[in-house]
Amino acid sequence: AEDALRQSQKMEAVGQLTGGIAHDFNNLLAGITGSLELIRTRIGQGRLADVDRYLVAAHGAAKRAAALTHRLLAFSRRQTLDPKPVNINQLIRGMEELIGRTVGPAIRLQVVEAPELWTTLVDPNQLENALLNLCINARDAMPDGGRLTIETRNVSLAAEAAWDRDLPPGEYLLLSVTDTGSGMPPEVVKRAFDPFFTTKPLGVGTGLGLSMIYGFTRQSGGQVRIVSEVGVGTMMKLYLPRHDGRAEPADAAAEAELPQRA
Ligand code: ADP
Repeated sequence: AEDALRQSQKMEAVGQLTGGIAHDFNNLLAGITGSLELIRTRIGQGRLADVDRYLVAAHGAAKRAAALTHRLLAFSRRQTLDPKPVNINQLIRGMEELIGRTVGPAIRLQVVEAPELWTTLVDPNQLENALLNLCINARDAMPDGGRLTIETRNVSLAAEAAWDRDLPPGEYLLLSVTDTGSGMPPEVVKRAFDPFFTTKPLGVGTGLGLSMIYGFTRQSGGQVRIVSEVGVGTMMKLYLPRHDGRAEPADAAAEAELPQRA
């Protein structure tokens, strides 16, 4: 099960990269197709002088496309993902500056940390990517500025509340990212987790952010919920299962070195 988990997390990361290079790859394919069409026309017209030039162009584009897929394969082999006990408060603190810079000065960032937050067993890099993606979505929903709230909480979900969220009853950490932006109409909420679904202009949105967050959260035994109202804002809620084991010695040592909070 662990291997399957790792493998699917690996595929999520590959998916992220794929989204980025699919555009380049398509451009190269368009170049090759165009050259081949020109070659056919010129041959039909008996104008062979240009044919060599188009062949060279098509060949060059094909070689660049091959280099792109090689990079993708190399990446998928290299990528190792590695769940460990994570203190989300600490993870947020480590990212606050980056998030502030990413959303810009027109958006007021507010962090509300639960005291004595439980740990959860996830890949910290995946969770950082997820949080940053949620903040970028929030920023895009607030072009004229607004408020971005990142909040953590310990929650115990008893039967009804748990099933309501498609989760088994138990203890979870709740990480929520709330904006005062455009909000999402119900038909967008319904499709928001679909891979490649985006309402953003071509080249801005990939439509992969939320689908990857969904995959990552489900693989970690958690769930994502959207609470949104048009004209009011959006709250993205990530539930992650509580990790009951103790942090490994290495992690405990690293934690002890952090300055104490006032
Ligand atoms: P992308 O951001 O590239 O479009 P996502 O999968 O992250 O891809 O999001 C899919 C769509 O969900 C977005 O295009 C947008 O319409 C909607 N969405 C996501 N987050 C928010 C938000 N915080 N406020 C309003 N709409 C959102």
